[in-house]
Amino acid sequence: MFEQIPATMKAWAVKSPAPIESVPCPLQLVEKPVPSPKAGEVLVKVLACGVCHTDLHVAEGDLPVHQPNVTPGHEIVGRVVQLGLECQRFEVGDRIGIPWFRYACGVCRYCRSGRENLCPNSKYTGWDHDGGYAEYVTVPEGFAYRIPARYKSTEAAPLLCAGIIGYRALLRANVPAGGRLGLYGFGGSAHLAAQLAIKQGVEVHVFTRGKDAQKFALELGCASAQGAYDCSPVPLDSAILFSPAGEMVPNALANLAPSGTLALAGIYLSDVPSLNYQDHLFHEKTVTSVESNTRQDGEEFLRLADRLGITPTVTPVTFDQADQVLKWVARGNIDGAYVLEMPS
Ligand SMILES: [Zn+2]
Ligand SMILES: [Zn+2]
Repeated sequence: MFEQIPATMKAWAVKSPAPIESVPCPLQLVEKPVPSPKAGEVLVKVLACGVCHTDLHVAEGDLPVHQPNVTPGHEIVGRVVQLGLECQRFEVGDRIGIPWFRYACGVCRYCRSGRENLCPNSKYTGWDHDGGYAEYVTVPEGFAYRIPARYKSTEAAPLLCAGIIGYRALLRANVPAGGRLGLYGFGGSAHLAAQLAIKQGVEVHVFTRGKDAQKFALELGCASAQGAYDCSPVPLDSAILFSPAGEMVPNALANLAPSGTLALAGIYLSDVPSLNYQDHLFHEKTVTSVESNTRQDGEEFLRLADRLGITPTVTPVTFDQADQVLKWVARGNIDGAYVLEMPS
């Protein structure tokens, strides 16, 4: 059962943030020491790591790196290979998931009131700390999840960010039972949120530029699919903007019914153009954002996904293709979600 842990490993590192098509590419394959788990942390051998749009924002510098040469990746599925001191939650050999949300202080006013996602001392995998574009990674055991047995590792990876954030966005968008929901952008997160909403009786309308994405939305059971700037066929009770394009906000607000809510799900959004009070905000419309998630969101989502059979559509790619894949993400070719698969 015990395997030899090497001293060094292959990992991708953000050398100096720049547009992903730059030469040299900001993401470089390097040799790093295998990290040692601190007290309360476990060492995980990575099996699969999903590629999230946020990784591109880290590589390109939209989100300034918090650690030089940081390794991106925060949709990690792996096996526990070593326990740090004081660990008691997992055993060596367990398959666990490592998400974006890595640490909260537990004592601030947000942590003490069930809003740990807003903790000012929070830390994130693949931004503050090395992530899963690597052979090994550590995680505080309290911030990892057990992976339901029904999922292959590549399938489970996108659940850990795309899925959990989509779930929190559904909560923030205040979708009424049996209501109508608009989704703007239809990538990794939206295709999981759509399945979850439809299985719970919500009518889902999709707004996205790609014809393939529109077709995919209809195949998943969405009621309609149209361009990102099109008028909605029906007034919407709730909407979620998954795309990082602030230009889409006015149309998303115009398509809301009175008292509707728009949740902005991205960690990064380009500037929102000026709004017209009558068209976009009057009639008690609400605009809100989504910041990370609590661990309770994560546990609830993984339970629901398992019970309702939410299935991520993934495109597995090899570990050494990470730089290429981020270029595809930048160009908008997202087919479900890309997942780096580690050689076994
Ligand atoms: Zn993510
Ligand atoms: Zn806190």
